[in-house]
Amino acid sequence: MAKFEIEKSKDEWRKELDSEAFGVLREHGTEPPGTSPLDKTYDPGTYVCAGCGTPLFSSDHKFDSGSGWPSFYQPIGEAAVETSTDFKLLYPRTEVHCAKCGGHMGHVFKDGPQPTGQRFCINGVALKFKPK
Ligand code: FE
Repeated sequence: MAKFEIEKSKDEWRKELDSEAFGVLREHGTEPPGTSPLDKTYDPGTYVCAGCGTPLFSSDHKFDSGSGWPSFYQPIGEAAVETSTDFKLLYPRTEVHCAKCGGHMGHVFKDGPQPTGQRFCINGVALKFKPK
C-alpha cells in the first residue's frame, strides 16, 4: 500500500521540480532564512504544495514570525499536512509534510500566536502562492 496518494521516484521528482524545491521537498533541505519572496507577502490567497498543488496554508493564518521563513499558526485544513518527529538536530523537532505527496514543508513549533499557539515554519520554495 502506498504511503501517500501521490508517489513518484526521486528521479521523477527531480525532473519536475527546480533544484531548490527538490532539495527541500524531497531531501528535507532548508532554504536560507530571509530568501523567500513569500516570507513578507500578506496578500489574500492560498499557499499550495509546490510538488503536487494541494492547498496547504491560507493567507488568513499567516503571520510575521521574524524567523525569515513564511509562518502560519495553522494549516488550511486538518488533513492538509501531517507531522513526524525529526532528530536531525540534537533536539527532536516536529517535521511537517504535505499529506498528499509527502513533500517536506518545514517544522512546527509551540511558540506561535493565538488562537493555536503553533508556529508552522515553512520553506517558501516548498509552496506556491495562488492569489485570491
Ligand atoms: Fe504535495
